[in-house]
Amino acid sequence: HTKRSGRNGYHFFEASMNANARNQLQLLQDLRGALQRKEFSLVYQPKFSSPDGNVLGAEALLRWQHPVRGLIGPDDFIGLAERSGLIVPIGEWVLDEACRQMRVWYEQGHSKWKMAVNLSALQFAHDGLIDVVRATLLRHRLPAQCLTLEVTESTAMHDTATSMETLQKISDLGVDISIDDFGTGYSSLLYLKRLPANELKIDRGFVRDLTHGTEDAAIVSAIVALGRTLNLRIVAEGVETQLQQDFLTSVGCDALQGYLMGRPVPADQFMTALTADYPQGKRA
Ligand code: C2E
Ligand code: MG
Ligand code: MG
Ligand code: MG
Repeated sequence: HTKRSGRNGYHFFEASMNANARNQLQLLQDLRGALQRKEFSLVYQPKFSSPDGNVLGAEALLRWQHPVRGLIGPDDFIGLAERSGLIVPIGEWVLDEACRQMRVWYEQGHSKWKMAVNLSALQFAHDGLIDVVRATLLRHRLPAQCLTLEVTESTAMHDTATSMETLQKISDLGVDISIDDFGTGYSSLLYLKRLPANELKIDRGFVRDLTHGTEDAAIVSAIVALGRTLNLRIVAEGVETQLQQDFLTSVGCDALQGYLMGRPVPADQFMTALTADYPQGKRA
């Protein structure tokens, strides 16, 4: 009896595991052809300086229009792309497309804007990164000052000696470095001090429940103070409410990003979204 139920249990487990594995395998299969089928696109979310509300530029965020599953966000396929190595060619496409778009805005007079592109851990560790960045800037005749690369704190802190070298090479190109999701990793202050970064982005998790007197409020104030000391620009991501904006402004956060001031939109809606979501009057 024990043996039989054990076997049934095993079969049941195998069947459900197969369903999940099949699903992932199918998604991976689809992901392999997605670049060639032109199923990827970018949406752009504005970054505003605080408190004056000037547009500093935009962050490019990847979207996948799956033929059956519909629009998929990066949280649902970046991991798979990372594990399969597909993130490298996909990431090169992202960089190329974002720089192409930045060149368009540059020619429209927004030459002070910066385009921010996210890099995953594998892209960041990839040997070809520096050459690809340099070649992409050249191809679009884009000044390096118009590009920011965002790496998460945990990516930047992993294997710190190699990371430091890569960050230095990026910095030597004249490209800005932003440490994304800051506060979720394990930065040592000593490392942070030597990091050739320009910007820290406070993770959305600290912004979410932000009100005066809370623990998150104290953490955010501390990060802003740290940024001031280390001469880093502090950006808050995930700003959704006026209360959050007011708090972040009051503690001296340098820049803000979030649904309150602008959702990520396709390039052709970016200019209209800028004025509709966050009219000049509200920016001051
Ligand atoms: P991230 O770089 O920290 O980007 C911020 C995420 O928060 C984006 O999600 C954005 O749409 C979302 N967001 C912005 N404002 C708000 C807000 O006010 N409230 C809320 N609830 N969310 C907000 P998204 O586009 O789904 O991207 C998720 C993550 O996927 C990104 O986090 C980034 O780590 C990664 N990612 C996105 N695009 C790329 C890419 O082209 N390459 C790589 N390697 N990773 C990417
Ligand atoms: Mg980012
Ligand atoms: Mg972030
Ligand atoms: Mg994040």
